[in-house]
Amino acid sequence: MPLDVVILGPPGAGKGTQGKLIAADAGIPHVNTGDMFRAECAAGTDLGERVKAILDNGDLVPDEVTIEVVRARLAQDDTAGGFVLDGFPRTLAQAEALDGLLVELDRGKLSVALNFQVSDEIAVTRLLGRARVEGRSDDTPNRIQHRLDVYHEKSEPLVDHYRSKGLLVDVHADRTVEEVFAEVQHVLASVERA
Ligand code: AMP
Repeated sequence: MPLDVVILGPPGAGKGTQGKLIAADAGIPHVNTGDMFRAECAAGTDLGERVKAILDNGDLVPDEVTIEVVRARLAQDDTAGGFVLDGFPRTLAQAEALDGLLVELDRGKLSVALNFQVSDEIAVTRLLGRARVEGRSDDTPNRIQHRLDVYHEKSEPLVDHYRSKGLLVDVHADRTVEEVFAEVQHVLASVERA
């Protein structure tokens, strides 16, 4: 049985850091739509040109575009043992498309949706710290607040969506990387045994 994981949570929750750790530990790909879009922008592809202003603003790339990118990625052979989806889905339409995609790819339902919980205050502090280190164009104070607003409006409803499917597990993401990863490993061990 593949380990198909979705990570939900606001920007600054540590999804990327933990996503990489989970992927390395389980030997499955870390599929991060934000990274994929940034790579397209850096390479100056048509897709990159289309989405650059949207990323800089902290708005969401249209669902159709995002779903196509994920469809192409999940269809690759390296996802046979599972995947860690980080930053997708971010809207209900994307979540529904993902369900359809899993049927299309003949892999049944997700293993688990991890809900990384942090307060807006902690998220802002972490993102301002990341801005100093990485210089991401969307990590300015204004854009950070906007991205949190977008999260609450568009993405937070996914928590209830996955809870109602019985797939949601809350993770206390306001602690150290090591502590959060220990909790995640504990959750994944019980998922894999299921
Ligand atoms: P992230 O690195 O996850 O914060 O994503 C950076 C940016 O990429 C977001 O602010 C959006 O502009 C875009 N993006 C990433 N994932 C998605 C998605 N699932 N749906 C729409 N836009 C996305």
